[in-house]
Amino acid sequence: MSASPVWHPFTQHGLREPIPMVTHAEGAALFTADGRRVIDAISSWWVTTHGHAHPRIVAAIRDQAERLDQIIFAGWTHEPAETVARGLRAIMPDALTRVFFSDSGSTSVEVALKMALGFWAARDEARHRILVLEHSYHGDTIGAMSVGERGVFNRPYAPLLFDVGTIPFPHPGREQATIDALEAACRAGAAAFIVEPLVLGAGGMLFYPHVVLRQMRDVCAAHGVLFISDEVMTGWGRTGTLLACEQADVVPDILCLSKGLTGGAVPLAVTMATEAIFDAHWSTDRARMFFHSSSYTANPIACAAAAANLAIWREEPVRERIATLAARQATRVAALADHPRITGARQCGTIAAVEIGAGEGYLSALGPALLAFFRERDLLLRPLGNTVYVMPPYCIGEDDLDRLYAAIGEAADTLPAG
Ligand SMILES: *Cc1c(COP(=O)(O)O)cnc(C)c1O
Repeated sequence: MSASPVWHPFTQHGLREPIPMVTHAEGAALFTADGRRVIDAISSWWVTTHGHAHPRIVAAIRDQAERLDQIIFAGWTHEPAETVARGLRAIMPDALTRVFFSDSGSTSVEVALKMALGFWAARDEARHRILVLEHSYHGDTIGAMSVGERGVFNRPYAPLLFDVGTIPFPHPGREQATIDALEAACRAGAAAFIVEPLVLGAGGMLFYPHVVLRQMRDVCAAHGVLFISDEVMTGWGRTGTLLACEQADVVPDILCLSKGLTGGAVPLAVTMATEAIFDAHWSTDRARMFFHSSSYTANPIACAAAAANLAIWREEPVRERIATLAARQATRVAALADHPRITGARQCGTIAAVEIGAGEGYLSALGPALLAFFRERDLLLRPLGNTVYVMPPYCIGEDDLDRLYAAIGEAADTLPAG
């Protein structure tokens, strides 16, 4: 056993599971110190969009690091941040006129919540309640946990998490219950509703139809409840379109982006907001400014990577690559659907998911067995309980996809029931 002092995230060190050393990566492949080539089937936790070490992103990072590594962003600016903000304005919905930088998906959510609460405070309206969708995940900081699903992940902290209104997930056939609950909660008074559009990621790759997203947006608009779209996972083409909201013709009041913002190379996040939300904080009174920052807000190197990502979206056939991957995932996941031990086969854009055996939630005994099974086959898949999902970089080849799907089928054939 190694004597490493590293404490890994979402890792039970007591299980003494192997922790491979990765030395380099390229495209959809990871290379380990012991000479293995591992397929990165989950885009290194959903961040890598164009593939590892995209030459333009690497060059942008190298170039920027030599010019300007870091600069305070309160009262100062720099070209990479301005380029990213302009680039986002050009491809994101017109109504989202303002770009606030932070460092991670969780902080982009914290910023969104603070913007929403600040908006109502500036109007002297006592709206504090945040509405959330059942099974949601918005990050691991205290505020982000508060608006996420309560469970084994956050039980020790539950007494500190703030109270929210939870709207039932729109399971097939029960969509109206979701809309009715949201309507009632909005009528009772709420500051904002935060939602993962179309796909709830960490909650188990749960999909719901775009018409429900559209209806939820309309209900919020009718009651003046701010609509926060957390596209930290769904953004940057994951669901087939640049934003998942596009498919429902929805424009949120506040939009959270991270993960694929830099193509997955370095951490960066933005929270985009409408002019009305910016205006609510605009004043000549310093006591009314938006009080949020982190040391590395809009770090120039991270912004240079994001600017390169935006250029790739403008100049390379990214949408075609996504459509190709979506079609390839669709045929493979459909083939798995007939397996007697597989249920819930589904696909949305580049994301595909299935359940193997009977479900028992995140701590399903099948989870670790599946993890080990895939690791032995040099595949980076990280099932959520007995939910196995594939969310690869857009550049993944057909051979790698074949290997992946063959292994998923084999896992369903051979593993004991959860
Ligand atoms: C991953 C994720 C987050 C948190 O992002 P971090 O960068 O891990 O803090 C928030 N919301 C959604 C929908 C996510 O998938």
